[in-house]
Amino acid sequence: MKIILMGPPGVGKGTQGDRLSKRFGINKISTGDLFRYHRNQSTELGILASNYMDKGEYVPDNVTIGMVIESIELPENSKGFILDGFPRTIAQATALDNEIGDSGGIDLVIHMVVDREELIKRLSGRQVCRNCQAPYHTDSAPSKMPGKCDLCGGRLYQREDDRPKVVDNRLGIYSKETEPLVEYYKESGKLTEINADGTPLVVELLLISALNGGN
Ligand code: AMP
Repeated sequence: MKIILMGPPGVGKGTQGDRLSKRFGINKISTGDLFRYHRNQSTELGILASNYMDKGEYVPDNVTIGMVIESIELPENSKGFILDGFPRTIAQATALDNEIGDSGGIDLVIHMVVDREELIKRLSGRQVCRNCQAPYHTDSAPSKMPGKCDLCGGRLYQREDDRPKVVDNRLGIYSKETEPLVEYYKESGKLTEINADGTPLVVELLLISALNGGN
Protein backbone atom coordinates (compact mmCIF):
# COMPACT_ATOMS: atom_id res chain seq x y z
CA MET A 1 0.00 0.00 0.00
CA LYS A 2 1.54 3.28 -1.12
CA ILE A 3 -0.40 6.35 -0.13
CA ILE A 4 0.12 10.09 -0.43
CA LEU A 5 -1.54 12.42 2.07
CA MET A 6 -1.81 15.78 0.40
CA GLY A 7 -3.07 19.10 1.69
CA PRO A 8 -1.99 22.48 3.04
CA PRO A 9 0.04 23.00 6.24
CA GLY A 10 -2.18 22.43 9.26
CA VAL A 11 -4.70 20.18 7.52
CA GLY A 12 -3.70 17.20 9.71
CA LYS A 13 -1.47 15.11 7.44
CA GLY A 14 0.96 14.31 10.25
CA THR A 15 -1.72 13.33 12.76
CA GLN A 16 -3.58 11.17 10.25
CA GLY A 17 -0.35 9.72 8.87
CA ASP A 18 0.51 8.47 12.36
CA ARG A 19 -2.94 6.97 12.82
CA LEU A 20 -2.92 5.19 9.46
CA SER A 21 0.61 3.99 10.06
CA LYS A 22 -0.48 2.32 13.31
CA ARG A 23 -3.64 0.91 11.80
CA PHE A 24 -2.07 -0.56 8.65
CA GLY A 25 1.41 -1.38 9.98
CA ILE A 26 3.29 0.64 7.37
CA ASN A 27 5.63 3.55 7.98
CA LYS A 28 4.84 7.20 7.59
CA ILE A 29 7.53 9.02 5.65
CA SER A 30 7.29 12.70 6.58
CA THR A 31 9.72 15.03 4.83
CA GLY A 32 9.12 17.71 7.48
CA ASP A 33 9.99 15.25 10.28
CA LEU A 34 13.08 14.06 8.37
CA PHE A 35 14.30 17.62 7.88
CA ARG A 36 13.64 18.45 11.56
CA TYR A 37 15.53 15.31 12.59
CA HIS A 38 18.51 16.36 10.47
CA ARG A 39 18.32 19.89 11.85
CA ASN A 40 18.34 18.60 15.45
CA GLN A 41 21.35 16.44 14.62
CA SER A 42 23.05 19.42 12.91
CA THR A 43 23.86 17.35 9.84
CA GLU A 44 24.91 19.10 6.64
CA LEU A 45 21.45 18.41 5.21
CA GLY A 46 19.79 19.75 8.36
CA ILE A 47 21.77 22.99 8.29
CA LEU A 48 20.94 23.52 4.63
CA ALA A 49 17.23 22.73 5.11
CA SER A 50 16.97 24.97 8.15
CA ASN A 51 17.49 28.13 6.10
CA TYR A 52 14.44 27.33 3.99
CA MET A 53 12.24 25.90 6.74
CA ASP A 54 12.46 28.92 9.00
CA LYS A 55 11.14 31.12 6.19
CA GLY A 56 8.44 28.63 5.24
CA GLU A 57 10.09 28.06 1.86
CA TYR A 58 10.56 24.72 0.15
CA VAL A 59 13.90 22.96 0.42
CA PRO A 60 15.31 22.57 -3.12
CA ASP A 61 13.92 19.64 -5.10
CA ASN A 62 17.20 17.79 -5.66
CA VAL A 63 17.92 17.64 -1.93
CA THR A 64 14.36 16.68 -0.98
CA ILE A 65 13.98 14.06 -3.70
CA GLY A 66 17.28 12.39 -2.78
CA MET A 67 16.28 12.17 0.88
CA VAL A 68 12.87 10.63 0.13
CA ILE A 69 14.15 8.12 -2.43
CA GLU A 70 16.70 6.92 0.12
CA SER A 71 13.89 6.42 2.63
CA ILE A 72 11.57 4.62 0.18
CA GLU A 73 14.36 2.19 -0.70
CA LEU A 74 14.85 1.07 2.92
CA PRO A 75 13.86 -2.61 3.35
CA GLU A 76 11.43 -1.63 6.14
CA ASN A 77 9.39 0.35 3.59
CA SER A 78 9.24 -2.36 0.95
CA LYS A 79 5.63 -3.35 1.81
CA GLY A 80 4.37 0.20 1.52
CA PHE A 81 4.38 3.65 3.11
CA ILE A 82 2.38 6.78 3.73
CA LEU A 83 3.92 9.94 2.34
CA ASP A 84 3.26 13.07 4.40
CA GLY A 85 4.48 16.33 2.87
CA PHE A 86 5.88 14.80 -0.30
CA PRO A 87 5.56 15.41 -3.21
CA ARG A 88 5.09 19.17 -3.01
CA THR A 89 6.16 20.11 -6.54
CA ILE A 90 5.58 18.66 -9.99
CA ALA A 91 9.30 17.78 -10.21
CA GLN A 92 9.00 15.79 -6.96
CA ALA A 93 5.89 13.98 -8.23
CA THR A 94 7.63 13.05 -11.47
CA ALA A 95 10.69 11.78 -9.60
CA LEU A 96 8.44 9.67 -7.39
CA ASP A 97 6.68 8.18 -10.42
CA ASN A 98 10.04 7.30 -11.93
CA GLU A 99 11.19 5.67 -8.70
CA ILE A 100 8.16 3.48 -7.97
CA GLY A 101 6.48 3.24 -11.39
CA ASP A 102 7.87 -0.25 -11.98
CA SER A 103 6.41 -1.57 -8.73
CA GLY A 104 2.87 -0.40 -9.46
CA GLY A 105 3.20 3.25 -8.48
CA ILE A 106 1.09 5.09 -5.95
CA ASP A 107 -2.20 3.42 -4.98
CA LEU A 108 -4.07 6.47 -3.74
CA VAL A 109 -3.55 10.21 -3.28
CA ILE A 110 -5.83 11.63 -0.60
CA HIS A 111 -6.35 15.35 -0.83
CA MET A 112 -7.35 16.67 2.59
CA VAL A 113 -9.34 19.91 2.47
CA VAL A 114 -10.03 22.50 5.19
CA ASP A 115 -10.77 26.24 4.89
CA ARG A 116 -8.06 28.83 5.49
CA GLU A 117 -9.51 30.20 8.74
CA GLU A 118 -9.49 26.73 10.33
CA LEU A 119 -5.93 26.09 9.08
CA ILE A 120 -4.67 29.25 10.75
CA LYS A 121 -6.45 28.32 14.00
CA ARG A 122 -4.86 24.86 13.94
CA LEU A 123 -1.36 26.12 13.18
CA SER A 124 -1.40 28.91 15.74
CA GLY A 125 -2.20 26.48 18.59
CA ARG A 126 -0.06 23.59 17.39
CA GLN A 127 2.65 22.21 19.66
CA VAL A 128 5.14 19.47 18.81
CA CYS A 129 7.30 17.29 21.04
CA ARG A 130 10.94 18.18 20.56
CA ASN A 131 11.91 14.59 21.21
CA CYS A 132 9.40 12.33 19.42
CA GLN A 133 7.53 14.87 17.21
CA ALA A 134 4.11 13.90 18.61
CA PRO A 135 1.58 16.63 17.75
CA TYR A 136 -0.63 18.51 20.25
CA HIS A 137 -2.95 21.51 20.14
CA THR A 138 -3.38 23.97 22.99
CA ASP A 139 -7.22 23.95 22.61
CA SER A 140 -8.31 20.79 20.81
CA ALA A 141 -5.65 18.26 21.87
CA PRO A 142 -3.69 19.55 24.89
CA SER A 143 -1.08 17.41 26.63
CA LYS A 144 -1.98 16.16 30.13
CA MET A 145 0.87 18.17 31.68
CA PRO A 146 1.33 21.61 30.09
CA GLY A 147 4.45 21.72 27.93
CA LYS A 148 5.23 18.01 28.37
CA CYS A 149 4.71 15.16 25.90
CA ASP A 150 2.26 12.47 27.10
CA LEU A 151 4.17 9.78 25.21
CA CYS A 152 7.83 10.39 26.08
CA GLY A 153 7.92 13.30 28.54
CA GLY A 154 9.78 15.46 25.98
CA ARG A 155 9.39 19.23 25.90
CA LEU A 156 6.68 20.71 23.67
CA TYR A 157 7.40 23.73 21.50
CA GLN A 158 5.78 25.90 18.87
CA ARG A 159 7.43 25.46 15.49
CA GLU A 160 9.16 28.59 14.24
CA ASP A 161 7.30 28.23 10.96
CA ASP A 162 3.88 28.10 12.70
CA ARG A 163 4.21 31.78 13.64
CA PRO A 164 1.65 33.95 11.79
CA LYS A 165 4.03 35.72 9.39
CA VAL A 166 5.63 32.49 8.21
CA VAL A 167 2.24 30.72 7.99
CA ASP A 168 1.11 33.31 5.43
CA ASN A 169 4.17 32.61 3.34
CA ARG A 170 3.71 28.83 3.59
CA LEU A 171 0.08 29.00 2.49
CA GLY A 172 1.03 31.22 -0.48
CA ILE A 173 3.79 28.84 -1.57
CA TYR A 174 1.43 25.90 -1.16
CA SER A 175 -1.12 27.47 -3.56
CA LYS A 176 1.53 28.23 -6.14
CA GLU A 177 3.75 25.15 -5.99
CA THR A 178 1.66 22.31 -4.59
CA GLU A 179 -1.94 22.89 -5.62
CA PRO A 180 -1.11 22.10 -9.28
CA LEU A 181 -0.50 18.53 -8.08
CA VAL A 182 -4.24 18.12 -7.57
CA GLU A 183 -4.71 18.28 -11.35
CA TYR A 184 -1.62 16.12 -11.90
CA TYR A 185 -3.04 13.29 -9.78
CA LYS A 186 -6.63 13.81 -10.99
CA GLU A 187 -5.40 13.04 -14.48
CA SER A 188 -3.89 9.77 -13.27
CA GLY A 189 -7.24 8.83 -11.70
CA LYS A 190 -5.64 8.27 -8.30
CA LEU A 191 -6.93 11.30 -6.44
CA THR A 192 -9.71 11.36 -3.91
CA GLU A 193 -10.75 14.31 -1.79
CA ILE A 194 -11.93 14.31 1.81
CA ASN A 195 -13.25 17.00 4.13
CA ALA A 196 -10.67 17.21 6.94
CA ASP A 197 -12.63 19.68 9.03
CA GLY A 198 -13.79 17.16 11.66
CA THR A 199 -12.18 15.72 14.78
CA PRO A 200 -9.14 13.47 14.25
CA LEU A 201 -11.33 10.37 14.67
CA VAL A 202 -13.95 11.54 12.17
CA VAL A 203 -11.24 12.38 9.63
CA GLU A 204 -9.54 9.03 10.22
CA LEU A 205 -12.80 7.21 9.47
CA LEU A 206 -13.18 9.18 6.24
CA LEU A 207 -9.63 8.24 5.27
CA ILE A 208 -10.24 4.56 5.95
CA SER A 209 -13.40 4.70 3.87
CA ALA A 210 -11.45 6.35 1.03
CA LEU A 211 -8.79 3.66 1.27
CA ASN A 212 -11.49 1.00 1.04
CA GLY A 213 -12.67 2.60 -2.17
CA GLY A 214 -15.79 4.03 -0.57
CA ASN A 215 -15.29 7.67 -1.39
P1 AMP B 1 6.03 20.17 7.19
O1 AMP B 1 6.36 19.62 8.54
O2 AMP B 1 5.54 19.13 6.23
O3 AMP B 1 5.11 21.37 7.27
O4 AMP B 1 7.41 20.69 6.56
C1 AMP B 1 8.18 21.67 7.22
C2 AMP B 1 9.12 22.34 6.23
O5 AMP B 1 10.02 21.38 5.68
C3 AMP B 1 8.45 22.97 5.01
O6 AMP B 1 7.91 24.25 5.27
C4 AMP B 1 9.62 23.01 4.03
O7 AMP B 1 10.53 24.03 4.36
C5 AMP B 1 10.30 21.68 4.31
N1 AMP B 1 9.69 20.61 3.48
C6 AMP B 1 8.95 19.55 3.90
N2 AMP B 1 8.58 18.78 2.87
C7 AMP B 1 9.09 19.36 1.76
C8 AMP B 1 9.04 19.04 0.38
N3 AMP B 1 8.39 17.97 -0.08
N4 AMP B 1 9.70 19.87 -0.48
C9 AMP B 1 10.39 20.93 -0.04
N5 AMP B 1 10.46 21.30 1.24
C10 AMP B 1 9.82 20.53 2.15
